[in-house]
Amino acid sequence: LPVISLNNICKCYGAGDSKVDALNNISLEIDKGEFLALCGPSGSGKSTLLNILSGIDKPTSGSVLFSNKLLNNLSEEQLSAIRGKHLGFIFQFFNLIPVLNVFDNVYFPLVLNGYIDKNEAKARALHFIDSVGLAAFTRRKPTELSGGQQQRVAIARALAHNPQLVIADEPTGNLDLGTGEAILDLLLKINQEIGTTFIISTHSSQLKARAQRVVEIKDGVLVHDA
Ligand code: ADP
Ligand code: ADP
Repeated sequence: LPVISLNNICKCYGAGDSKVDALNNISLEIDKGEFLALCGPSGSGKSTLLNILSGIDKPTSGSVLFSNKLLNNLSEEQLSAIRGKHLGFIFQFFNLIPVLNVFDNVYFPLVLNGYIDKNEAKARALHFIDSVGLAAFTRRKPTELSGGQQQRVAIARALAHNPQLVIADEPTGNLDLGTGEAILDLLLKINQEIGTTFIISTHSSQLKARAQRVVEIKDGVLVHDA
């Protein structure tokens, strides 16, 4: 069963002489439980594709189906509700809130999204912080953590609301090789144990080598899918 499917997606920016075809007729079906690496040179359209997958950006033409629901005609409010409930995000530069400790970085988004009560949010935050190996660090601020530890907090935050799909943009791009490998181990373990679907844009050859599926785009065209 596809979690998400893209059908003949085109995305153009600008018009006239400055028109850019960022994505050209991309079709892609991503099934539940997949661990997919999205590769391609800088400027090939990876961020544009991730933004369309997550409903942050609309395609110029083509359709996006999330759990068989057509996203094309939904309002910003409806899209944002779907993101908050069903998607998790992991970023290259972690995007933690610097004034909040580890616990609150994971706990507050759960409460703010409003789908669960405070006690359940607390229990879930602690569970996921523990599962990324940071149980002893709940009261630290992001600045008091290493890059790898900050990314672990971001992973706990991305998973705490049990999303169907996690979209990660260069999650090891700002980490040294060994730390990146450990983060990759953690993502693969989560994929195997919880069954979370991952779409990960990356330049990392380690990540490409260990992903279950590698999709490559060049100049907005899907050139490889295996
Ligand atoms: P990648 O993430 O692979 O580096 P992007 O999706 O960021 O690639 O960009 C794909 C193409 O679209 C590039 O040529 C880029 O310059 C262009 N592009 C991306 N965003 C915009 C935008 N907001 N306005 C105009 N052109 C854009
Ligand atoms: P309340 O009084 O609203 O029930 P708490 O006193 O449990 O809230 O928590 C208040 C703040 O204390 C939290 O926002 C967080 O900053 C911190 N906190 C609570 N539990 C933990 C924990 N297990 N680890 C780290 N910080 C915590």
